[in-house]
Amino acid sequence: MIFFSRSKLPLILLSTISIIILGCGQQQQNLADTAVHDSINNKAASSSDTLTTSANEVADAATILSKKQVPVLCYHDIKNWPPNLRTSMKEYIVPIQNFKDQMKILHDSGYKTISPDEYYAYLTTGATLPEKPVMITYDDTDEEQFTIGKTEMDKYGFKGVYFIMTISIGRPRYMNKEQIKQLADEGHTIASHTWDHHSVKKYEGDDWDNQLLKSKNTIEGITGKPVQYFAYPFGLWKPEAFPELEKRGYKAAFILSTSRDTTAPLYTIRRMIVPGTWSTASMINSMKKTFNRN
Ligand SMILES: [Zn+2]
Repeated sequence: MIFFSRSKLPLILLSTISIIILGCGQQQQNLADTAVHDSINNKAASSSDTLTTSANEVADAATILSKKQVPVLCYHDIKNWPPNLRTSMKEYIVPIQNFKDQMKILHDSGYKTISPDEYYAYLTTGATLPEKPVMITYDDTDEEQFTIGKTEMDKYGFKGVYFIMTISIGRPRYMNKEQIKQLADEGHTIASHTWDHHSVKKYEGDDWDNQLLKSKNTIEGITGKPVQYFAYPFGLWKPEAFPELEKRGYKAAFILSTSRDTTAPLYTIRRMIVPGTWSTASMINSMKKTFNRN
C-alpha cells in the first residue's frame, strides 16, 4: 500500500536526541499519505454505516464522526527559546510566557478542560460536555509539563492528559515516578505514548507488546489506575494498530491534525500541536478551524 511507503522516519529515529527534540511533529508531513488512505476508507464506509472496530462501542463510526469534535491541544517542551534556535524547532517549544497566556485565554474565554473518559463517553453514548470543552495534552514526559504545565493549569482548575514515553521516566529533564503519581492523584489522566517512541507504522510481532503493553503496565504500576488511552508517536498510525490497541485494553487513541479513519474514529481522535510561534488569538482561531473539519 502507498500508505506504508514513507521512508523519512528511520532518519528521525537515528538518535534518541532527535526523537526527544522532534517529538510528535513529523506527523504534519503525513497529510498526503493519510488522504490517500482516507479516500480508500471513505469508499468502504459509504457501503455501510454500521462499521465499527470495537464490540464495546455504543455508537457506530458514522455517528461518532458526525459529532462536533472537542479541541485537543498537544504540547511538548515549555521553555524559553535558546539563542539561535532553528525555526523548525519553534514548532515544538512553547516559551513559558506564551504557555501562561494560552492557559489564561482558555480560562478567560470560558473553556473547561475535560478528560479522555468524558470525551469517550460523549462520543460513544451521547453524554454531555461543558459548553466550551477543551483537552490539554502533553507528550514525551518532559519535566516542565509538571513544573510549569501543572502549575499553570492549577491556577484555573484545569486537568491535563499526560502521554508518557516510559523509557524516559526518571531521566534528567524528564518526569519521575513521584511526579507522575502526583499528577494521577490530583485528577490528571496518565496515558501511554509507547515505551521508546518508535513509530507505530513499523510495529510487528513482539513490538505490539513491547510498545503498547509494557508502557501500560509500567504506568499502571506507578499510578495504580488503568491506562486506557494512547497517543501515536509522531501522530503516525496504521489500521493494524486498532485491534492491537483494543485487545490490550486501550479504549481510544489520538493522532495529530490529519484526517481521522472513517471506520475507527475512536482510534484516530484528532489533536493539534500548539506551535511556540502562535499568539493566543492564533491558537483560538486554529482550535475552531482544525476541529470543525472532517
Ligand atoms: Zn511524542
